[in-house]
Amino acid sequence: MAPPRQCSGCTECCRLLRIPQLAKPAGVPCPNCTGHSCSIYDNRPDICRRFRCMWLLNDAFGERDYWKPDACGIVSYIPNAEPVLYFVCADDRWTRDPWWTDIQMAARQMAERGIRTMVRVGETVVEVTT
Ligand code: SF4
Ligand code: SF4
Repeated sequence: MAPPRQCSGCTECCRLLRIPQLAKPAGVPCPNCTGHSCSIYDNRPDICRRFRCMWLLNDAFGERDYWKPDACGIVSYIPNAEPVLYFVCADDRWTRDPWWTDIQMAARQMAERGIRTMVRVGETVVEVTT
C-alpha cells in the first residue's frame, strides 16, 4: 500500500476555501499563511484542524500528481454535513483536461452513492450533472 499523502508545503485550502471562523473569504490567502505553512498552527481553528482534502484521503488519485492542490489550484473535499463533493478553484482550470475528464468520472461515481458534485469558483457554484 502506498504511504499516506502529506500536504508537503501545499497551502491551497488556506487560499481557496472560505474560513468563517477567521472571517476569511474564499480565494484570498489566509493572513496566517506563510505561503508554505500556518503561523498559528498550534492555535489554528478547529475547522482547519479537521480539514482533509480528497487528495490526502482518496487513493483513487493514484499517480495522478496533476491533482495535487498546489500543482493544479483545485481543492476537492466532501464536507461532514453535506453529501456533496466540491471542487474549489480560483479560475476555469477545472474545465480543461485532464481535470475535466476526471471530474466527470468522479461525478458519475459519486452519483451512484447519492453524492452530488459541485464546482465552486469564488461565490459561483455549478453542479456537474452526469
Ligand atoms: S489542499 Fe489538501 S494537500 Fe493542500 S494543504 Fe490543504 S489539506 Fe493539505
Ligand atoms: S489558520 Fe492556518 S490552517 Fe487555517 S486557513 Fe489560516 S493558515 Fe490555513
